[in-house]
Amino acid sequence: MDELFRQDNYDGHYFSRREIATIIACDVVTPSKNVFASSMGAATTREGCDVLLTDIGDSYVAEAFTDKGEKLLAKATGSTKAENGDLEMRRQVWERNKRELNRHELRCSVAYLPKLLGRAYDHPVWEEKAATCFACGSCNQVCPTCYCFNVQDDVNWDLATGRRERSWDGCMLDGFTKVAGEHEFRKEKADRFRHRLYRKGKYVPAKIGGRIACVGCGRCVGACLPDIANPVKIYNRLADDLGIK
Ligand code: SF4
Ligand code: SF4
Repeated sequence: MDELFRQDNYDGHYFSRREIATIIACDVVTPSKNVFASSMGAATTREGCDVLLTDIGDSYVAEAFTDKGEKLLAKATGSTKAENGDLEMRRQVWERNKRELNRHELRCSVAYLPKLLGRAYDHPVWEEKAATCFACGSCNQVCPTCYCFNVQDDVNWDLATGRRERSWDGCMLDGFTKVAGEHEFRKEKADRFRHRLYRKGKYVPAKIGGRIACVGCGRCVGACLPDIANPVKIYNRLADDLGIK
């Protein structure tokens, strides 16, 4: 998110909050039933947070990645320096998570997703899935990597003052691409369905050095009533049909 909000139009509203925030991440203890973070290379992290906590059973190992994190940990009372045995237990948690946070297994290399999608624009899967899509936008709204928003001006009767409001938006919702003159660039559900998967696997990666914009949390899978939102099922189908491993 930092990279995305920094480029194109630097987002001062985002950074005014981001800079005063301290992010404490925690390695997964209780996996969700649809997680596939292992497949996406996101089962643990060494970046994006100030402090990483890992539950090793009777205690936590805490590691700071930033000055902000160091300062926070310096204030922690009652903590002791991690010993080799603690670090070994943390390594085992990481290894277990890399292996087991994988309820849905991606059958092609995650690094290949942009190229895979580059060949799949006209694949029939988009129409097939869109046929049962409610366009409810739930898959967008629960997603930690969906960040699109709308900005609306509410003008007062004096026509000189008013309020500018920003709110979450989602590319699966009808009207997301509507502009002046009633033009709408992705009116068809199939176009919106494809766009969401292309954002995750191709368009956003092109902006952030090839990193895939899906962490495999599985939230969209659980939120989708017709059960069509699972990115892994779509990518696997494309990989099978296009003969890519
Ligand atoms: S699994 Fe779904 S909700 Fe989670 S990051 Fe990927 S697309 Fe978003
Ligand atoms: S894919 Fe599922 S969650 Fe997403 S808009 Fe369609 S019905 Fe809603």
